Amino acid sequence: MLKNDMLEQWDRENFFHPSTHLAEFARGNAPHRVITGGQGCHIEDREGHRLLDAFAGLYCVNVGYGRQDIADAIAEQAKELAYYHAYVGHGTEASITLSKMILDRAPDHMSKVYFGLSGSDANETNIKLVWYYNNILGRPEKKKIISRWRGYHGSGLMTGSLTGLELFHKKFDLPLAQVIHTEAPYYYRRPDLAMSEEQFTAHCVSELEALIEREGADTIAAFIGEPVLGTGGIVPPPAGYWEAIQEVLAKHDILLIADEVVTGFGRLGSMFGSMHYDLKPDLITIAKGLTSAYAPLSGSIVSDKMWKVLEQGTDENGPIGHGWTYSAHPIGAAAGVANLKLIDELDLVTNAGRNGAYFNKVMRDAVGEHANVGEVRGEGMLCAVEFVEDKDSRTFFDASRKVGPSIAAALLEEGIIARAMPQGDIIGYAPPFCLTEAEADEIAGKSAKAVAKVLG
Ligand code: PLP
Repeated sequence: MLKNDMLEQWDRENFFHPSTHLAEFARGNAPHRVITGGQGCHIEDREGHRLLDAFAGLYCVNVGYGRQDIADAIAEQAKELAYYHAYVGHGTEASITLSKMILDRAPDHMSKVYFGLSGSDANETNIKLVWYYNNILGRPEKKKIISRWRGYHGSGLMTGSLTGLELFHKKFDLPLAQVIHTEAPYYYRRPDLAMSEEQFTAHCVSELEALIEREGADTIAAFIGEPVLGTGGIVPPPAGYWEAIQEVLAKHDILLIADEVVTGFGRLGSMFGSMHYDLKPDLITIAKGLTSAYAPLSGSIVSDKMWKVLEQGTDENGPIGHGWTYSAHPIGAAAGVANLKLIDELDLVTNAGRNGAYFNKVMRDAVGEHANVGEVRGEGMLCAVEFVEDKDSRTFFDASRKVGPSIAAALLEEGIIARAMPQGDIIGYAPPFCLTEAEADEIAGKSAKAVAKVLG
């Protein structure tokens, strides 16, 4: 481990950090932090602060930090065979085993898994597969992708376009023309407060139908959505949403991509969000929880229906022209196998459901009544608190007040890491699945303190 006094200077001079205010960071006005270790739900920085990580990194260290079994599996794989590619039928024991373990856990109608490195590249793969599929079926016009405002699907050219957040489009010339956005299933921000959840679902459906009508169903290939909106604000869907949306998609022969980068492998208390909400997707995106981020690895799980057409495509056109050098990287795959075994052995999906429900309850009890808390919402081991200037009219605070970031900063002073979500004054929580009730109580208590400090 590198330990020296130059790190801050080297960092500010050399390191281009993602999602960071570059100028403020270079000037020394934005925080620099060096993380040195982690155990369970806690991490440590080099100043010796021990922090309760209530966001599991970026909703990814699902099994918690410092798991010896996964570290050993990675070390053994690195010693035995650090790398070989997966092109033209090559594999390793780890990557082949992991593909079976994933399919054993996925919905029954899924057929194969293609491995990538990140959630973004897995969604890039998905869109290419959707386009290939429609070309093989002889309908080259059916290519547009519908995403939702506030969806998050990555930050590449296509995936940044799918993402429905302004920050990821502004000054990047995005979204690309093939991507169209529809209403976010965000009941708290419904257009008319008199709407019931069911009426709001009907409104989302009619917005979708109107979009399909305007664009023409024969130009639309797929709809992508997270079972629970994540980075867009941690928003569970309104009652009946997925059932009604799937009916519309089926009617117009539009494929469904379930982006389960956050929800896959247990975060909602079910193995997949698709099972939690009864989705029948044609593709499922997986990443974060696949290895609990002990190594980078993602995947696109392909349904039987699509797989048959992909096979037909290669019979007609030769090998599929899609591959990454690091697809199915053996070290990532070894981490994935050890991670999924650990999730089973420790029954962490059950814990995510049970202690996640407890965590949501104590959060509601702790901050729900505050005059500026509009809503506390969540599902499984996901929770969000949305702040408003006025509870009745649900007015936003002026952005210049930076209410969300100030509360996250106050929480950090209390030793808790939560995330100020990028759009709106929303604090998000996505702790590791091993969160105990005592840790949930600590987060809730300190959240109340941080809210009181910033908003009185
Ligand atoms: N999809 C979802 C639902 C995500 O939450 C994320 C990242 O947070 C991504 C895709 C992109 O994953 P990555 O950052 O690994 O590219």
